[in-house]
Amino acid sequence: MKEKSSPRIEHAVEIAKKAHEGQFRKTGEPYIVHPLAVKKILEEWGMDEDTIIAGILHDTVEDTPLTLNDIKKEFGESVAFLVDGVTKLSNARDGMRDIDTYLPATRDNFLRLMIALGDDIRVLIIKLADRLHNLRTLSALPPEKQKKIAKETLEVFAPLADRLNMGLLRVEMADMAFKYVDPKRYAELKDIIDRYNKSAARSLKKIEQEITEALNKEKIKFELSGRVKSVYSLHKKLAKHDQNIHEIYDLTALRIIVEDVTDCYLTLGVIHSLYTPMSGRIKDYIAMPKQNGYQSIHTTVITKDKRVVEFQIRTHEMHEYAEHGLAASFYYNEQKLTENYKKGKIEHLPTNLLWITELQTTAAKLREGKKVDLKKLKLNLFADRIFVYTPKGDIIDLPKGALPLDFAYRLHSEIGDHVVGVKINGKMSNLSKKLEHGDIVEILTSKNQTPHTSWLDKMFTPHARQKLLHQLNKDKK
Ligand code: MN
Repeated sequence: MKEKSSPRIEHAVEIAKKAHEGQFRKTGEPYIVHPLAVKKILEEWGMDEDTIIAGILHDTVEDTPLTLNDIKKEFGESVAFLVDGVTKLSNARDGMRDIDTYLPATRDNFLRLMIALGDDIRVLIIKLADRLHNLRTLSALPPEKQKKIAKETLEVFAPLADRLNMGLLRVEMADMAFKYVDPKRYAELKDIIDRYNKSAARSLKKIEQEITEALNKEKIKFELSGRVKSVYSLHKKLAKHDQNIHEIYDLTALRIIVEDVTDCYLTLGVIHSLYTPMSGRIKDYIAMPKQNGYQSIHTTVITKDKRVVEFQIRTHEMHEYAEHGLAASFYYNEQKLTENYKKGKIEHLPTNLLWITELQTTAAKLREGKKVDLKKLKLNLFADRIFVYTPKGDIIDLPKGALPLDFAYRLHSEIGDHVVGVKINGKMSNLSKKLEHGDIVEILTSKNQTPHTSWLDKMFTPHARQKLLHQLNKDKK
């Protein structure tokens, strides 16, 4: 993605330079180096002009005489809004690590964070760029501060990058931070990975040749590359598998990028005809994307010389999205997405990013002074989501804990209002049954059915509850 330049951007650079004049970073460099680095990161991510300008100015309101009003006058409401959001987020930062405990002070900070975040997800993207550059220059800080920032990165920022499917960012942040949190463990694991890669190099070369030959024969256009496992993800996986390295199957992984979805499946067939697939290790994230929108087919095979290799197959578009996530959506869909955020429209967001909309709805409620159950909010933000299916095979994205009525109202309120029963995976079930990931849900309706107040107890999502209450009020009249 190319560097952006415009009179507005250049003007912002001039203003930031003046504002930060005489300030220095802990590294000894003039302070302006930092906002300019953030600018560059946002450009690399392909962000829009307003976001880049806000990135250049992100520390001015907090640390310089420049005011939000000055920014508004020079660059307009949108930029001022983003800078304000980043400033609020910085203030809330200290409390974020204690989200679980809901101490009153924490809750306050968390609220501010949510309000800032909920308004415009670009605030978070600027904050991620800010954090990334601070991590890259972390060595200049005193050890205690290094650890604090590194820990916070592992607990909050890397998971959020993952939530936005910004794969490259997640890996870079997590590995850099882990190095500060546990330097000894980092070195050990890095050594394991390096030695493993070295020992696998020769057979990997042979595999690449075999694959290339076979795919050429099928006339499939492709790009092949090796993927090195990140240190932090190995650390997490080992913890899950009792430190048994033999249960880690993706230490060697090859990535194949092809032109379209059909070629993804053809390529899978080619790989399985060359090598023996390990049973239970084929994951089709194309048909069933991960909750953050990630798509790819993963398969683990055993090669002729008894090596375990994981293949990841995806299209160029899926690859772009897996590396840059939501930022990539901005790049491709910049205007539309931004406009829709502002209008509060949800239908142009990919369904697997609906949690962002939930966040925005909650933020709006908070601003109006309405009561919000923070426990539920946290659930929506951090807990897993499930994907269930209609009998026709449409995928519906719901929060974990959703019930059949949530599903029905998600399909259409006409369906929700006339529910008489539900079949789950072809069997009659009941409306109190929690839906599971992968369930096929068939809602049975009758024209004569009308909504009941008691249904409120059989609902999990605010969305369904709202639709039902709407209908109940209408019936009363
Ligand atoms: Mn900063």
